[in-house]
Amino acid sequence: MYILLMGPPGAGKGTQADIIAEKYSLPHIATGDMFRAAVQEGTELGKKAKECMDAGALVPDEVTIGIVRERLQKDDAKKGFILDGFPRTVPQADALKDILAELGISLTAAININVPTEDLVERAVGRRVCKGCGAAYHIKFNPPKVSGVCDSCGGALYQRDDDSAATMISRLSVYEENTRPLIDYYKKAGLYRELDGSQAIEKVTADFIAALSA
Ligand code: ADP
Ligand code: AMP
Repeated sequence: MYILLMGPPGAGKGTQADIIAEKYSLPHIATGDMFRAAVQEGTELGKKAKECMDAGALVPDEVTIGIVRERLQKDDAKKGFILDGFPRTVPQADALKDILAELGISLTAAININVPTEDLVERAVGRRVCKGCGAAYHIKFNPPKVSGVCDSCGGALYQRDDDSAATMISRLSVYEENTRPLIDYYKKAGLYRELDGSQAIEKVTADFIAALSA
């Protein structure tokens, strides 16, 4: 299965992608995670990405398309993937179409997680992420068993620099302008499916699995 996972920041893409990737043994490829890894490594890409992320802006298309092109050429992506947070612009979607055509891959579905905008700031501000494995928790909606410690790997949890109410204002307006148009893009391609992301995590997962077998 070759799945795109779309939705506004804080919709639950990473949470669902982790669960579905494990269930179907697919690589979970998240551009946000790739940029955060580059920031950790202190590479040139990381420096550029950090500026954009901290401002709530998108990393330029040519940079983002380049890292995705490289990633999708790796062997583990040939049998399937969940692409989380890419594409986020129409030029990225067009580039993805070309990359997949070169690789002889057809998308299975473009799944959008829909959550009312007013809930997204609370989701992002309460998000805590594991330094070790990247798992996402929420202080209220999905707390770890021990405060500040990852259930799966025991790593320390931290709050992302871009998960502030102020930065979310920019991220949400960038979403509306650049990313929301992809809903129509994938509707026209006949690949679009939508999940009600305002439900409990387990219910969203159940709908996700049902959407994949529809
Ligand atoms: P995204 O990858 O779309 O930015 P995440 O998966 O990191 O979103 O989820 C954002 C925050 O919302 C996290 O703190 C996560 O634990 C929480 N969350 C995810 N799904 C739900 C849900 N269905 N209900 C409530 N909180 C959720
Ligand atoms: P995320 O982890 O998906 O919330 O992404 C965090 C940040 O990484 C975004 O706010 C952007 O700055 C950057 N980013 C992630 N994916 C993309 C993308 N497809 N295009 C441009 N920037 C991206």
